[in-house]
Amino acid sequence: MSASLATVSYLGATILFILCLGGLSNQETSRRGNLYGMIGMAIAVLATVFGPRVGAAGIPWIIGAMVVGGAIGLYLARVVQMTQMPELVAFMHSMVGLAACLVGFASYIDTSIALTGAEKSIHEIEIYVGILIGAVTLSGSVIAFGKLSGKIGGKPLLLPGRHMINLIGLLVVLYFGYAFLHAETMAQGMLPLIVMTVISLLFGVHMVMAIGGADMPVVVSMLNSYSGWAAAATGFMLSNDLLIVTGALVGSSGAILSYIMCSAMNRNFISVIAGGFGSDGGKPAPKAEGSAEPAGEVSPILADETAELLREAKNVIIVPGYGMAVAQAQHIVYEITSHLREKGVNVRFGIHPVAGRMPGHMNVLLAEAKVPYDIVFEMDELNDDFPDTDVAIVIGANDIVNPAAQEDPTSPIAGMPVLEVWKAKTSIVMKRSMASGYAGVDNPLFYKDNNRMLFGDAKKMLDEVLVALMKD
Ligand code: NDP
Repeated sequence: MSASLATVSYLGATILFILCLGGLSNQETSRRGNLYGMIGMAIAVLATVFGPRVGAAGIPWIIGAMVVGGAIGLYLARVVQMTQMPELVAFMHSMVGLAACLVGFASYIDTSIALTGAEKSIHEIEIYVGILIGAVTLSGSVIAFGKLSGKIGGKPLLLPGRHMINLIGLLVVLYFGYAFLHAETMAQGMLPLIVMTVISLLFGVHMVMAIGGADMPVVVSMLNSYSGWAAAATGFMLSNDLLIVTGALVGSSGAILSYIMCSAMNRNFISVIAGGFGSDGGKPAPKAEGSAEPAGEVSPILADETAELLREAKNVIIVPGYGMAVAQAQHIVYEITSHLREKGVNVRFGIHPVAGRMPGHMNVLLAEAKVPYDIVFEMDELNDDFPDTDVAIVIGANDIVNPAAQEDPTSPIAGMPVLEVWKAKTSIVMKRSMASGYAGVDNPLFYKDNNRMLFGDAKKMLDEVLVALMKD
């Protein structure tokens, strides 16, 4: 492939990536957006593999690597459960970070790149910064993977003087950056590079370990952004314009998503990066049995009675959460919704920005079950309507409907906006036990006078509710 055809292909791929991002901003256009992304990526890969920078001898190696990588990707995509998607995404981010590190070291030891003067310095800065971002992304994503999959506890690890540790780490990285740039030989430069890589890896671990449970969504989107910048840095090292543009697109869209997440959770972005927010300015988070613990008893309800309440209701709001994903209850939710709507009940869905385990998790599940988009609302659009709602059904959600966020300033989730289901005439919480949610915080909602608990697996209980509804 000639250089000019490769450039035109890169341009086409860039446009398709931008169209892809535009499409993904809306549920109705997201399929099309995905398609644009896939076509863009296919063009990008073909133009790179058969482009002027890859010699004929390299092609079999690249194709061999693509076959192995593609087979692993295909296998993972087929076996991954919807509930494991966030972990898979974190794993993929870590791979981007690893790639940036490997490309950085490979570029440094590649003797065929003979640069001098300013060009050499710029290339070395690219290598240093690229490996730094890559290493933070790699280790941070590995820890995020552990936290999301439950292999590492969700509680924030708040080392004493952690900000000072971070600052010292930064100064050491700057010092070794200077040493790296002024190294006379490759062997001399290797030591600062390795020291910086180790510090960056430790920083990534420290940064994500310091983030408390309920704040993980921000970290996930932040690591998404980092992985984009790591890819862009790789693009600089390889002088590949498409990788720079694509990395910058991912990096900036991830940064915007992190900002949106922070606003949605009423958090300060800088405190998130500094670590340990939601933990009272550095003191350990109160234990689950702390002041948020409500007094009182819960009032259970059975499926028949739930159906009765729904049958009599005029306005119903359904609030889905992570448990709906676990139970795979979205299809039965759709059937109940259709049934009630046929009977003239106004059924709407309230979606919290951090419901589930990844941004847009609930929207994806509801779209899969063919729930019409026009009855799915964001938290802000619906929160004022709860007082006029007869029944608010909470399906496998916990943290996102926890009144402690508003009522208890010492709660680790204090200040996080929540769906105010307790303002409905009756709220029904569907879950299997009294266990807490991802943030590990007690939920006073369960004990409110107008709240009922429908204990059991969400899918099983909803099946029973539908059978009872059909009886009339
Ligand atoms: P939560 O994790 O707060 O609560 C989910 C509830 O679902 C649990 O209390 C559990 O209770 C119940 N549950 C689990 N399985 C089932 C089942 N089969 N049937 C019925 N209920 C079930 O989820 P939310 O959606 O309310 O909140 C999301 C939380 O995850 C927030 O803290 C958020 O910060 C965090 N998070 C979000 C991310 C995102 O990007 N959206 C990413 C990472 C974290 P029980 O065991 O008793 O059934």
